[in-house]
Amino acid sequence: MIAIAPDAISSSRVTHPVTLIPGDGVGPEVVDAARRILEAAGAPLVFEEARAGASMFLAGVPSGVPAETIDSISRTRLVLKGPLETPVGFGEKSANVTLRKLFETYANVRPVRELPGVPTPFSGRGIDLVVVRENVEDLYAGIEHMQTPDVAQCLKLITRPGCERIVRFAFELARAEGRDKVACATKSNIMKMTEGMLKSVFEEIAPEYPEIEASHIIVDNCAHQLVKRPEQFGVIVTTNLNGDILSDLASGLVGGLGFAPSGNIGREAAIFEAVHGSAPKYAGKDVINPTAMILSAVMMLRHIGEFGLAAQVEGATLLTLAQGHTTRDVSGDANALSTTEFTNRIIENLGNAGAGAGAAREHAPVRAAFPRMALPVPVRADVGADVFVEWDEDVMLLGPMMEEAASGTPFALKMISNRGTKVYPPTGAMTDCVNQYRCRFIGRDGVAPSSDDVLTLLARVGARVRWMHVERLQTYDGEPAFTRAQGED
Ligand code: NAP
Repeated sequence: MIAIAPDAISSSRVTHPVTLIPGDGVGPEVVDAARRILEAAGAPLVFEEARAGASMFLAGVPSGVPAETIDSISRTRLVLKGPLETPVGFGEKSANVTLRKLFETYANVRPVRELPGVPTPFSGRGIDLVVVRENVEDLYAGIEHMQTPDVAQCLKLITRPGCERIVRFAFELARAEGRDKVACATKSNIMKMTEGMLKSVFEEIAPEYPEIEASHIIVDNCAHQLVKRPEQFGVIVTTNLNGDILSDLASGLVGGLGFAPSGNIGREAAIFEAVHGSAPKYAGKDVINPTAMILSAVMMLRHIGEFGLAAQVEGATLLTLAQGHTTRDVSGDANALSTTEFTNRIIENLGNAGAGAGAAREHAPVRAAFPRMALPVPVRADVGADVFVEWDEDVMLLGPMMEEAASGTPFALKMISNRGTKVYPPTGAMTDCVNQYRCRFIGRDGVAPSSDDVLTLLARVGARVRWMHVERLQTYDGEPAFTRAQGED
């Protein structure tokens, strides 16, 4: 860990310790550009340099995030970081996701707005939106299993507390930024319980913000509308995977990943980083666009209340772009400035009269801690169990075997599905079956099967086939708390 005390810091000001992670690929170049500008602007920051990502995986740290880095962030609670890679064959978890989850930075804020001097097919449309992506749940929890050699599973976990806080954060951000619209983008039409939870929580909370127009949009249409009429959006709140994709798409509308900053905000800590990755083909070539990283540093300055400095750095960056100074992603190779030259121009512009002109939507940090909603507790009843089994032969042989397994227990086999489609009793459907089946057992005559009953059933199933997963079936207030298979009545 190297502590770097910038000369420019005035001794009379409060200084903010920041964990600085250069990262992989182009990371050190863009982080260095941001740091040079912050130091030249006299930002009252004390950087603690820390490591994470590829070099740590290669050094044998399985998570890619060493204890010293975790210690540093625990102290500073503020991170400026470059992109991190997970090299193939080392570590199975992304060090980025690990950092976001370890510090519970649940709100990933990705502003997207038209920039001067960056012509795109959308120039002049007034794009100015923010994607608020849930950052620690969904498929990115990375809970994966090989259930059979042919079947991989990833659990999509969406929680009510997670939905409440990301929705409230999105509305609070809209309110703080004076935005009048929040759209919730989900795939609730297909995934009614997971994606649907975000939609229903959004609809419950929206009336608390009557001055903000709240709407729900199916995520695929959101992608379509973003390309067709991006200026219609203010804040878009969405689940983790949706947000990852939508925000990269949105960055493409205003010049690409070189211009997309982000903040990962939690109750206790915040991590600021460019949206882009390590772009390995450009590493060490001094050609990469550092704007995304610089604007991430601007977000960090605002987060710690350094509004004047934020406006100065942002203004100098926008002025530099408006003057036509750009890197190769905008100018092409012939007229491009190098990363270093572009950074130097921004530093020269820090004192310019025009600096500060571009600052927009300044506000105090958005509250990230919210009380839970008080909700009636549903009346729950156990009604059955789904047992997932491996089977390589015809389902017409599996069905009678599972019926026999259930005989003498409180369960009856209701149906068997393959990849979510009912295949037993046969429906006439033309499903290509793989070797993982879900056997749905329901309590006979309305009996509520106990935990011991499930264990007995599992033992009987296991004596006949290999089971790898069981899920208890419940009703909430008499309604099924599980979905039907396609073709199941
Ligand atoms: P990427 O590094 O973001 O690069 C994709 C493309 O985006 C580049 O080839 C380049 O496009 C453009 N690009 C990215 N950054 C740019 C910049 N600053 N200026 C101009 N253009 C830029 O995505 P990837 O190739 O899919 O991922 C590479 C590695 O980064 C992977 O290991 C991935 O896991 C990791 N990653 C890390 C993070 C993170 O740390 N937060 C995020 C995403 C990916 P052209 O080829 O058109 O020039």
